[in-house]
Amino acid sequence: MDYLPLFVRLDSRPVVVVGGGTVALRKVSWLLKAGAQVTVIAPELHPELAAHSASGAITHVAAQFLPAQLANAVAVVAATDDTRTNGEVSWAARERRIPVNVVDDPQLSTFIFPAIIERAPLLVAVSSAAQAPVLARRVREQIEALLPARLGALARFMGERRQAVQRSLSALARRAFWERVASGPVASHVLSGDEAAAERALARELRASQLTTTRSGKDGALGEVYLIGAGPGDADLLTLRALQLLQQADVILYDRLVSRQVLERARRDAECIFVGKESGEHGQQQRIHELLVRLAREGRRVARLKGGDPFVFGRGGEELEVLAAHDIPCTIVPGITAALGAAACAALPLTHRRLAESVTFVNGHQEHSDTSDWRFFADPRHTVVFYMAVAQLPAIVARLRAAGAAPTHPAAIIEQATLPHERILRAPLERIAMLAAEQRVAPPALLIVGDVAGFAPAEALSSIAGAGAVDAVDAVDGAGAVGTVDVGAIA
Ligand code: SAH
Repeated sequence: MDYLPLFVRLDSRPVVVVGGGTVALRKVSWLLKAGAQVTVIAPELHPELAAHSASGAITHVAAQFLPAQLANAVAVVAATDDTRTNGEVSWAARERRIPVNVVDDPQLSTFIFPAIIERAPLLVAVSSAAQAPVLARRVREQIEALLPARLGALARFMGERRQAVQRSLSALARRAFWERVASGPVASHVLSGDEAAAERALARELRASQLTTTRSGKDGALGEVYLIGAGPGDADLLTLRALQLLQQADVILYDRLVSRQVLERARRDAECIFVGKESGEHGQQQRIHELLVRLAREGRRVARLKGGDPFVFGRGGEELEVLAAHDIPCTIVPGITAALGAAACAALPLTHRRLAESVTFVNGHQEHSDTSDWRFFADPRHTVVFYMAVAQLPAIVARLRAAGAAPTHPAAIIEQATLPHERILRAPLERIAMLAAEQRVAPPALLIVGDVAGFAPAEALSSIAGAGAVDAVDAVDGAGAVGTVDVGAIA
């Protein structure tokens, strides 16, 4: 981070603004909102600033800038259109160790103004560290659209009742209580402007919380488990519900495949427990079951976070059985399974009207019983995605070939799909295992076989549109593949 976002209390503190134009006016408006005692130094004033001066809201010093004018200031803003003056202000402020902002000049500034979304007392500040102000403004617009206008009123409503609630509920019960307030009928009433109805709903919630305290878990709250699919790695591929529950969980049990980016989206003070399995580590699944049950019984909200989807090679079903046996409530949140993430980043449709009518997800790690229909897998018009396949590649290839797959049967390997070190390797079946060995492919990776593995949108495009094929290829490669290896023509 180039800058640490802080919220500064400026109430009645002296702040000096050098410059009297529209840019200065914008900064002065924010400073006045924060209650600062603003002095504007400028030979001439914008009419609105002149009005502020006439009403006594600001002090106007009609003069050129002199360092001595900074004597008492706790912060300084240079907003003139003269770079030399701005430089002098910056230098004088820094010499006196006063925080200074020079408008549009991060080099001369020791602090910057963020883009602000105001729902006071709730504030959101957005910054691009002065690298892309337009982008920061866009983000602000998006957040503006997302946050209800009366959110500030809700924050105030909750703030005014904090102490009373603190006295009547235990710490754990409080958190659950406020969460119900923030997302239930109380919030809806405040946000629609009916505070009297909100007050009544709040009293009902409080009574309900006091009652549950006497009959459930250790600290009053009833525990529960969220079985959440974290997707293939890229945190932007989390679902909104996964994100909401990750913000709500007290404890997070996560697997090896859950990326750091995803964990960073969880509640800051949630306890994160790594429960990934080292290979050959027996009994770990049993320990996870025990931990889930114990934590939920303590009244905690437990997020069980799994790579991809919890129900695709994720043992989510077994954990669900254990929770059901102990009567622990469980919310299931699907995630994007690795096959879908990988298909998207390799721009490889798993089904396609011309190329494949069906798709199968296969565990490539296990010994396959004869019930697996390898002749079906060997049909190029059927897509097969092998999970956990890296160590078994030669065996899988041999089995497909024995079942009738041609040497030219298209294949692709996607390693670390959607993650920064993602790699895509394509080759005919007869060369894919060799290529993977040469390129030192390591888990997590998927093997995809079938005609779709040779899918080239550019060829399809050129047959439709004639021109523009090369652009389409570039666009696809640039869309996410960090490394792409193509070997030989694919039939
Ligand atoms: N529940 C998970 C799968 C767990 S099994 C899901 O739905 O995706 C673990 C296997 O998933 C790995 O061996 C690998 O084959 C695959 N996998 C998981 N994440 C992956 C990723 N980012 N890129 C490629 N393969 C991945």
